[in-house]
Amino acid sequence: MNITIIGTGYVGLPSGCGFAELGHNVICVDNDITKITKLSQGIVTLYEDGLEELLKKNLASGKLKFSSDLPSAVGAADIVILAVGTPPDPTNGQADLKYIHAAVKELAPALKDYTVVATKSTVPVGTGDEIENIIKKYNPTAMFDVISLPEFLREGYAVYDFFNPDRIIVGTNSERAKELVESLYKNLPKKTEILFVNRYSSETIKYASNAFLAMKIHYINEIANFCEKTGANVLEVAKGMGLDSRIGNRFLNPGPGFGGSCFPKDTKALSYMAHQKGLNLSLVDATIKGNAERKEEMAKRIYDKVKKISEDTQVKVKLSILGLAFKEGTDDCRESPAVEILQNLLNIMTQEDKETIEICAYDPKAMPIAKTILKDNITYKDSIEECLRGAHIATILTEWKCFGDTDFNAYKDTLKAVLDFRNLSKKKRLTDFEAKIIVGL
Ligand code: NAD
Repeated sequence: MNITIIGTGYVGLPSGCGFAELGHNVICVDNDITKITKLSQGIVTLYEDGLEELLKKNLASGKLKFSSDLPSAVGAADIVILAVGTPPDPTNGQADLKYIHAAVKELAPALKDYTVVATKSTVPVGTGDEIENIIKKYNPTAMFDVISLPEFLREGYAVYDFFNPDRIIVGTNSERAKELVESLYKNLPKKTEILFVNRYSSETIKYASNAFLAMKIHYINEIANFCEKTGANVLEVAKGMGLDSRIGNRFLNPGPGFGGSCFPKDTKALSYMAHQKGLNLSLVDATIKGNAERKEEMAKRIYDKVKKISEDTQVKVKLSILGLAFKEGTDDCRESPAVEILQNLLNIMTQEDKETIEICAYDPKAMPIAKTILKDNITYKDSIEECLRGAHIATILTEWKCFGDTDFNAYKDTLKAVLDFRNLSKKKRLTDFEAKIIVGL
């Protein structure tokens, strides 16, 4: 089957490499020419475990190609998959569809024989209708079906998730499109349920799923606050809750709040859509508000600890931040809690604080991207060791395994506190420090 994917970001690139590996002929299109040049040479433009090997292998076999010429890439496609961004409008949180609209206007005139246009981007309910209307306007004789094909991959596990999806959701009533989707996925290594629903339902499933997971994280963070007041141990509480198969143990890790390119924007977009229909999704709204407050609260905790150590030691305090990506396994910093907490912290700090506190950070993959956001307001170190050498406080903000494996005792000449916002550290490694495991205990 000939597949054209529009957008080679965190969704489009792993999907393109994956479909090529399943035996399809794939052309990945992007209007970022630098990306296309690099990808054509086998250079990955984002970090995902296993992606580089998959890219090189399928480029070499000729199954995977890259292009910035969208119309030429669309003509021979059986299916065109939209994987462009749908970022939040900063004024009201609604999903901004400008990239979708631009891509559809460009692809419409290029459609030749019957083609399925599938939306993998997360789009508001009813966007399938809009795409259909745009195509009809720019190519009245085109034979096509627009389907919703939401993506559920987890960043950090994108390659694994491509080949091992929990489920495939398809929004369409067209029998012809259903058959095509079945052959698209027929070579997956394990049989996976394809749930066919109507297009509005499919578009809603994506938002309802992400909002639910975001709510689950926010809920355990609230329970963590409760545990801190009662003497309960939130890790034990989460474990006990998770043993109930109706609840499940995933997304019950207390932490600094959720972030990333999906949960924050999708909860806001869902809330916006509901308000447009005169509805109030109170749980979703409380989750959005509570998550923003959590990141402020975490910054305040760091600030208070830094100030206390500053007063106690009367020296310039070195604060080491471990982790900048929004989660482990990725270089993505979009709405990263680590980055937002640092921004909040920098906002709380007075000019005098800035002269008496040095903030440095290390992340295994995300530093180049984080630097573009945080600029030179902090310093960047090339290793955990360099970041922790001479530090007075270490703060873990991203759940990279290497941070949990760190022996903080090696730095105890200067290190006074380890603030582990991800509850990663082995307790025995932290016996000498105050504020050992910080969240919920
Ligand atoms: P991204 O920003 O990483 O990638 C989007 C790409 O599309 C960019 O490379 C951009 O240059 C390209 N692009 C934009 N307009 C174009 C056009 N007209 N022609 C060609 N290329 C164009 O975004 P992403 O993280 O991959 O997300 C894409 C969509 O998938 C979003 O709607 C997102 O909500 C959804 N999604 C993302 C994830 C995730 O984990 N990142 C998971 C599920 C769903």
